[in-house]
Amino acid sequence: MKSKKEEQKDLEELAKSYKQFLNRGKTERECVNFVIREAKKHGYKNLENLMQENRQIQPGEKVYISHMGKIVALFQIGTAPLEEGMNILGSHLDSPRIDIKQVPLYEERGLAYFDTHYYGGIKKYQWLGIPLAIHGVVVKLDGTVIEVCIGEKKNDPAFVITDLLPHLGRDKEEKKLKEFIDAEKMDLLIGNGNNDTVKSKILDILYKEYQIKEEDFISAELEIVPAGKARDCGLDYSMILGYGQDDRSCAFAALRAMLECENPKRTICTIFVDKEEIGSVGATGMHSKFFENSIQSLKKLVNFKEYKEKEMILQNSFMLSCDVTAAYDPMYSEYFESRNSAYLSKGLVLSKFSGKGGKSGGNDANAEYIAKLRQCFSQNNVIYQTAELGAVDRGGGGTIAYIMASYGMQVVDCGIGVLNMHAPWEVISKLDLYEMKKGYLAFLNNIK
Ligand code: MN
Ligand code: MN
Repeated sequence: MKSKKEEQKDLEELAKSYKQFLNRGKTERECVNFVIREAKKHGYKNLENLMQENRQIQPGEKVYISHMGKIVALFQIGTAPLEEGMNILGSHLDSPRIDIKQVPLYEERGLAYFDTHYYGGIKKYQWLGIPLAIHGVVVKLDGTVIEVCIGEKKNDPAFVITDLLPHLGRDKEEKKLKEFIDAEKMDLLIGNGNNDTVKSKILDILYKEYQIKEEDFISAELEIVPAGKARDCGLDYSMILGYGQDDRSCAFAALRAMLECENPKRTICTIFVDKEEIGSVGATGMHSKFFENSIQSLKKLVNFKEYKEKEMILQNSFMLSCDVTAAYDPMYSEYFESRNSAYLSKGLVLSKFSGKGGKSGGNDANAEYIAKLRQCFSQNNVIYQTAELGAVDRGGGGTIAYIMASYGMQVVDCGIGVLNMHAPWEVISKLDLYEMKKGYLAFLNNIK
């Protein structure tokens, strides 16, 4: 067992590389690139290449498979037969943000804008008046992909969505929050000139600096995110303030646990999905067939007994749905029930069920499975707590757990508490991050 001092050193090291991950991965594509780069460094091979060579995969070997640059799964083959099931970590890489529309550029009275459309559950007012950056890709007519990242480097310009000054708009103060900001007025300020040529000036810059023509926006995915780096939070440096910690905190911990796990008995898998914030839909969301198809491919190359269907591999699997939950916030205590809330710095959070109202639309983890995890966590000195997302009938939520549970596998929501969730800058605790990675690793190594 490690000493307190050694653990503190490990915790700070983990927090440091986590902040680097948050800085490099502000979109799902950037995160997938990061995951693949790290996996390759740790000996993971592209499953699609092995498929082409029809090469058998042996226990201890590591493979990855990705799709459209937005979803990726890592596997390490165990010594136990695949049909006995896998230990799976699943997290999501997309975060709430504001997207740039396909016909975005216009000018109005000497000011140039990008027209926008928000993605995921945001509180619109939080995105006004703060420095913003543009990340994403523009795909040209010939298929060339231009990677865009403006607003992060020291001398880069930043962008802003303007708000009305307090001296005007007293009538706005009477409005309901949802009427207070018109989403069509959340356009991004990108230039200014004293005559009617600001749009053409911007077009010139776009072409000269980035080789982007106006019609190229039609085939672009450009995301507006908070500009700037993740940093320590609090006089005691105990927390981290950063964009996209739902769910990149869990994704990072899952990646680190996966890369640290060597020669597992059962096959282990970590999947990083997209589109969770809008219902896990589409080709790269958890509802897609990506995961099943990946298992099909894997089966062909490992020594798999054909007498059982793929559903049995999945039904025999254990999963942690790695996602964040709402941390108890004393400023909004009436929205929580104090005995069943997640607290910052009280460790990994197990949420038996999710959903809204009478638990509708959620997942419900089996008590026997939770008992297994309790044992695993206590044997590995993982600090953990249990929680529901907020007080009953105050709202609620869920993540990818119920989708995986539909295969009949054991799934439980297991992540950490976040303060200021879905705001441009979210807060987590370093200790929770550390315990989460420890817990995920213990799960990969021990659950059977
Ligand atoms: Mn989430
Ligand atoms: Mn979310």
